[in-house]
Amino acid sequence: MNLSFSKEDLDFKQEVVDFLDANYPGDIKERQDKRLPLDKEQNIRWQKILSKKGWFAVNWPSEYSGSPELSLTQKYILQNVLAEYNTPVLLPFGVGMCAPVIFSFGTDKQKKQHLPAILNSDVWWCQGYSEPGSGSDLASLKTKADKEGDSYIVNGCKTWTTLAQHADWIFCLVRTETTPIKQEGISFLLIDMKTAGIEVKPIITVDGSHEVNMVFFDNVKVPCENIVGEVGQGWNIAKFLLMHERSGIAGISSLKRELSRLRELSASTIVNEGTLLDEPAFRAKIEQTEIELTATEFTELRTLSSMSSGGSPGAEASILKIKGTELQQKLSELFVEMLGYYAHPFFAENELGSNDSIGPEYAGSIMPHYLNYRKVSIYGGSNEIQRNVISKAILGL
Ligand SMILES: Cc1cc2nc3c(=O)[nH]c(=O)nc-3n(C[C@H](O)[C@H](O)[C@H](O)COP(=O)(O)OP(=O)(O)OC[C@H]3O[C@@H](n4cnc5c(N)ncnc54)[C@H](O)[C@@H]3O)c2cc1C
Repeated sequence: MNLSFSKEDLDFKQEVVDFLDANYPGDIKERQDKRLPLDKEQNIRWQKILSKKGWFAVNWPSEYSGSPELSLTQKYILQNVLAEYNTPVLLPFGVGMCAPVIFSFGTDKQKKQHLPAILNSDVWWCQGYSEPGSGSDLASLKTKADKEGDSYIVNGCKTWTTLAQHADWIFCLVRTETTPIKQEGISFLLIDMKTAGIEVKPIITVDGSHEVNMVFFDNVKVPCENIVGEVGQGWNIAKFLLMHERSGIAGISSLKRELSRLRELSASTIVNEGTLLDEPAFRAKIEQTEIELTATEFTELRTLSSMSSGGSPGAEASILKIKGTELQQKLSELFVEMLGYYAHPFFAENELGSNDSIGPEYAGSIMPHYLNYRKVSIYGGSNEIQRNVISKAILGL
C-alpha cells in the first residue's frame, strides 16, 4: 500500500479543508468542542451536509451512494481532516451497519425503500441485537417472531439499544424457529418503530446521560417481506455486520485529535516550576500512548487496504476493536489525571447542555466523558470476547 500523498491527494485534502471551512455549522462545532451531546436535528443536519457532498456513505458501492467511490487514501484523508475539525461521529446504525446488509443481502424492494432514506438521513436506525442474558452469548437470543399469514408476530425484549428513543426503524435479530443448534433459526428483521406494541424505556448511564434503552415488543405485527436474506440465515448476516461494526470502532483519527489536545492542554497546565508536559512520568504516558496509537493506525491501514482489494476485515477487526478502545479509555484517564481534583466534581446536567465546571473551562466534560467511555470495551462485542476470537482465528488455539 502506498501512502505517500500524490498531488491529487493533496488537492483532495485541500478540497476537504475548504469544504469544512465553508460548511461546518458554527452551532454544531461549538457543542462538539465543548463535548456536549448533539440533538437529533443537529446530527441529521450534519449528516445531510456530508451526504450532499458525497462524503457520507463512503463505503457504499457508487451504484447505491450515487457518488464516485473514494480511493483508500482519499478515505483516509477525509477521515483525518474530519477528525481534526472535530466534526460529529457519524451514527453508524443506518449508513455503516444496516445499509451494507441491505445492499449485500436485501431484495430490490428493500434496497429501493431503505437505501435512499439512509443516504439522506431521513430515517434513523437502531440496532436490536442484545437481550437481557444474550449479549456475549448472542445466539441464545429469545425474541420470537412467529409466522401468521403474511406477517411475523414479534414478542420479546432488546436491551442497550443505542439512541432507540430517536429511531424510526430497528434492525433486529429474531428467532423464527427453535432448533437444537442455537445459531440456526435466527432471522434478520427490519421493524418500523411506529408499529403498535413497541415500547422504548430509557436506561440512564453512570455519566447521567440517556444514550441506551430497553425496547419491548408485545405482539408486534411485521410484514414477512421485512426479513433480509433467507429466513434462518440471520446468524451469518449478524456475523457479517459485526465485523463491519468492529472495524470502524477503533476511532483512530479522533484518538489522534484527542492526543494532540491532551498534549496542548498539559503544556499549559502549570505544575511546580514548569508544566505538566515537562513532568517525565506524565510525558512518558503521553509518548507511550502515541507509540501504541501509531502501531494501531498501521494495523487499521493494513486492514483497510485488504478490504479495498476485496477482502473482509476478518479477525483483524477484533485487534482494532481491542486496541482502539483501550486507547480511548487510556486517553480519557489521562485527561482526568491531568485535571486532578478539578475532574472530580461533575454535574449530570452537563449532558443536558450546561458546561459548568470548577477549574479550567474544559473541565466540566472530562469526568462524564471518562465515565461514559467505560462502555467502549463492552459494546460491539466485549474485549474479552474479541480476545477469544483472536485466540481461535489468528493463534489457532
Ligand atoms: C453503551 C452501550 C451501547 C450498546 N449499544 C447496543 C446497541 O445499540 N444494540 C445492541 O444490540 N447492543 C448494544 N450494546 C450491547 C453490547 O453489545 C453488550 O453489552 C455486549 O455484547 C456484552 O454483553 P452483556 O452486556 O450481556 O455482557 P455479558 O455477555 O453478560 O458479559 C459480562 C462479562 O463477562 C465476560 N464474558 C462473557 N462471556 C465470556 C467468554 N465466553 N469469555 C470471556 N469473557 C466472557 C464479558 O466480557 C463481560 O466482561 C451496547 C452496550 C453498551 C454498554
